[in-house]
Amino acid sequence: MSALAEQDLRAQARALREGRASSVELVGEHLARIERQAALGAFLHVDAEGALRAAREADAARAGGAASALLGLPLAHKDVFVTRDMPTTAGSRMLAGYRSPFDATVVARLREAGAVCLGKTNMDEFAMGSSNENSAFGPVRNPWDARAVPGGSSGGSAAAVAARLVPAATGTDTGGSIRQPAAFCGITGIKPTYGLCSRYGMIAYASSLDQAGAMARSAWDCAMVLGAMVGFDPRDSTSVQHAAPDYTAGLDAPREGADPARPLAGLRIGLPREWFAQGLADEVEQAVREALEQLRGLGAQLVDIELPRSTLSVAAYYILAPAEASSNLSRFDGVRYGHRAEQYTDLAEMYANSRAEGFGPEVKRRILTGAYVLSHGYYDAYYLQAQKIRRLIARDFLAAFGSCDLIAGPVAPTVAWNLGEKADPLANYLADVHTLPASLAGLPAMSVPAGFGRGEHARRPVGLQLVAPHFGEARLLHAAHQLQRATDWHLRAPAP
Ligand code: GLN
Repeated sequence: MSALAEQDLRAQARALREGRASSVELVGEHLARIERQAALGAFLHVDAEGALRAAREADAARAGGAASALLGLPLAHKDVFVTRDMPTTAGSRMLAGYRSPFDATVVARLREAGAVCLGKTNMDEFAMGSSNENSAFGPVRNPWDARAVPGGSSGGSAAAVAARLVPAATGTDTGGSIRQPAAFCGITGIKPTYGLCSRYGMIAYASSLDQAGAMARSAWDCAMVLGAMVGFDPRDSTSVQHAAPDYTAGLDAPREGADPARPLAGLRIGLPREWFAQGLADEVEQAVREALEQLRGLGAQLVDIELPRSTLSVAAYYILAPAEASSNLSRFDGVRYGHRAEQYTDLAEMYANSRAEGFGPEVKRRILTGAYVLSHGYYDAYYLQAQKIRRLIARDFLAAFGSCDLIAGPVAPTVAWNLGEKADPLANYLADVHTLPASLAGLPAMSVPAGFGRGEHARRPVGLQLVAPHFGEARLLHAAHQLQRATDWHLRAPAP
């Protein structure tokens, strides 16, 4: 077992700063682990040569006095972010071999912060899925239990961080794709407020929901990575002007006026009645309630709240997201980029054949659903109704935040299921019930390791979800970090 990769991002940064390790050593060690664990299927592309080159540059820059936040630290990008120097596929045959002429803003920002990208991680095709079984390039396995799915759609990033192949990775979350795989793989993930990270160069799924975020071992590490990702981008029309604080500053301190022994004193955490209802597995509920007791021990006050319309989120989301997807994915027509069929007689057939060959079954299902709900006869009945429900769900949150500072609950109703177990698409959709409400409301939300299942599931992690009001990332990270100071679930590692 090699020592450096066992450490989290914060410790790796310290080792670099204190000259106990070089970026070349750090990157080399992680590359070796990626190779050894290729059977996980976590990576779609690894750029060893480019990473070592960037590591040498980072070491030289440090020797010359540079000290940017992530200088020389290894990370990986979900393959939904376009990269100039590596292929980008979004997990789809449609984009096999595609190379972007530019970098996504998030990729560029992390590079500017000094991070060294080792490769691109596997994902559900076009980020559609909850188990990573929809990737055109094969599934990802859960490092805790090879029979289990890692969650999706950022399953490759989650598995890579959990298996210590990289200390941190980017992900995207449209309806839970950072939080749910983080929960299933026992790592920490944060989806920030919609608009905080630029979507420029992030291949679009459902643009009104898509948001980039950070996945790492701890809240502290997520704070380090997120700080380098956020910022206004004139090339994304939904990017917000919001000065990004240093998210790590203040994480260690107790809340203002609180006694250090009860650092969360005064924090009111709302527990939505609807999130602890029927359908939640006992083993998940138990782990989540234990984590909540820990938060209470740290001084937080648990209050009962209601989010009455959150039960409608699966129905609303699975109308809105496919509607937007059907529009976004119309650009893949075989003309400008992506797969083009070899056999066709005219232009219409070229489009049809290219799309039939390039897209997988789940993507086709969503394009069909989306086109249907947007069609003249059904727009009012489905799409418009779903938009109204989305608004009501957001209002429920605003009302609830009148009596609490954070909202907590499970990330998913169960622990990770087995590969192949949920063949019915609907069963996958229903498993998103806990992550969709915050997505529809554009709220920042996190998944924090909170223990494990029972019996047969003793090696399947459970996640605690924390949701904050818009732009409440600092509050979210603070509560998660304080919980992690008091617990060790996030320190557990799967057997190598
Ligand atoms: N599981 C959800 C879906 O399939 C969410 C995916 C995501 O957040 N990208 O749409």
